[in-house]
Amino acid sequence: MLEATQTPRPRTGRRAVVIGAGFGGIGAAIRLQAAGLDVTLIEATNDPGGRAGIIKEQGFTIDMGPVLITAPDLIAELFALGGERMEDHVRLVPLEPFYKVQFADGSMIDYGTSGPALWEQLERFETGATAAHQRFLAHTRTLYQRAFEELGTADFSSLRSMLAVVPDLAKVRADQSVYSLVSKYFEDPRLRILFSFHPLFIGGNPVRASSVYAIVPHLEQVGGVYHPMGGTFAMIQALIGLFKRLGGKVELGNPVTEIIVSPPGRAMGVRTADGRGWPAEVVVSNADPPTTYRRLVAPEWRRTWSDARLDRLKLSMSCYVLYLGLNRQYPHLRHHTILMPNDFPGVLGDLFDRRVMPREPALYVHAPTRTEPGLAPPGGEVIYALAPVPHLDGRIDWERHAPAMREQVIHAMETTLGMPGMRDAIVLERARTPVEFRDLLGSERGAAFSIEPVLLQSAWFRPHNRSEDVKGLYLAGAGTHPGAGIPGTLLAGTIAANCALVDVGLPPSSGRGVTVARRAGAQAMA
Ligand SMILES: Cc1cc2nc3c(=O)[nH]c(=O)nc-3n(C[C@H](O)[C@H](O)[C@H](O)COP(=O)(O)OP(=O)(O)OC[C@H]3O[C@@H](n4cnc5c(N)ncnc54)[C@H](O)[C@@H]3O)c2cc1C
Repeated sequence: MLEATQTPRPRTGRRAVVIGAGFGGIGAAIRLQAAGLDVTLIEATNDPGGRAGIIKEQGFTIDMGPVLITAPDLIAELFALGGERMEDHVRLVPLEPFYKVQFADGSMIDYGTSGPALWEQLERFETGATAAHQRFLAHTRTLYQRAFEELGTADFSSLRSMLAVVPDLAKVRADQSVYSLVSKYFEDPRLRILFSFHPLFIGGNPVRASSVYAIVPHLEQVGGVYHPMGGTFAMIQALIGLFKRLGGKVELGNPVTEIIVSPPGRAMGVRTADGRGWPAEVVVSNADPPTTYRRLVAPEWRRTWSDARLDRLKLSMSCYVLYLGLNRQYPHLRHHTILMPNDFPGVLGDLFDRRVMPREPALYVHAPTRTEPGLAPPGGEVIYALAPVPHLDGRIDWERHAPAMREQVIHAMETTLGMPGMRDAIVLERARTPVEFRDLLGSERGAAFSIEPVLLQSAWFRPHNRSEDVKGLYLAGAGTHPGAGIPGTLLAGTIAANCALVDVGLPPSSGRGVTVARRAGAQAMA
């Protein structure tokens, strides 16, 4: 991590284009701009943020995507690169507990910092759970050191780089699933769910996501869980402000329609929907990799990522999200609540294998007005309820299913979450189904988290940050290495930017990307 603010480097006159203003794209754009390139960030929609969009209507401010903020040092690092301090632009409030988890039998746990308050609750579920939890956290600490600090910042552009980490992966038994790992520590089925559900946060199935993804409980414990005042979108705005102060240009509402490639396969810039060409020697795409390759790169340049290979990718599940503004409050709510279904394995099978509507909803409910009342008009409440659903493959007709899904979600909140009469308090209502993820954000098959995080789609097996097919093209975002979630996409932006800087003969940006840069530099010289 960077210890202090840095002075942005002198201008080089070199041009870069970043396609897409999600977290990964903005992060890469800031790094390249601070390193002396002239960067234009081109976004298809009218607002930056991508999945981290916002609804601002009738006095309500409702974040539409990521709201559970971990690893804030990755954001701070971007401000430091720009010579600024995050604290001057973003106010993060630590949450304790992190979230409440409510099980189908009515039992619940306020999950937060490891200590007596948490252990007392764990012991009620299983005698000896405190010791098991400490052993589990020790294991996840090792995973974190190997999987996040080393692998998370590594550039897996070559098979050699993958082979180099195989011994580490074997040592941490990356071949077993998160659920199998957790089951070695806990007997109680509810505790097994509590410590293994986290892959769902990044679009993975806990019973088949590699156990390296069990690092999330560790990330939460060491770094905390935060609410950004003003919402996640305020963080996006702060980062865009930083990029602009560094001299970066932002073009909104103008989709890139083509990455211009010249023989023998080098990116020369991009073309946008208005017909303009944007020459650049570095092109970074933050769009999902299947979208980047299928829609933006002509087939003759795609020896690795042919349409047939893209078709074979396993994609993450999607989400049904209901965004509500209420004219009354429910003070008993926690900021984050997770309602676990009775038949957890059955629901996972519905989502990932059978791809049918889940037999019962697993629900995540966000009530940010519990921490920041100003996100709603006086006396009101902001609620967003997210139910994981399968991605689009033609089996679910959302026009027909959306009303039933809405009813199921509202019923669960009114009954299980103790919010009677909620439907009569709704004054603002919006919803997002997999169809909107596909049509508004350009995500293939409406997958909410891009490519599913399974071992054979991780690290070198994931579409590389330095394109395999087109020189001068780099990928940043959820579908490339290391994966989805704000920390994952920021790291992807770091790796992509540093690969690009090394390739144009400039020193890489500092911070966690230093490791990446060293490896990328070694490979560029090899
Ligand atoms: C409902 C939901 C809740 C989530 N909750 C959390 C959470 O609590 N914590 C967490 O850490 N993560 C969470 N995540 C995951 C996290 O939000 C995502 O992994 C992350 O935001 C994705 O960022 P990205 O860099 O991949 O870019 P994206 O957000 O996917 O943005 C990509 C951008 O590229 C643009 N684009 C695409 N094609 C083009 C084109 N041709 N031309 C120009 N622009 C283009 C898109 O419009 C979009 O703006 C959540 C995700 C969802 C969907």
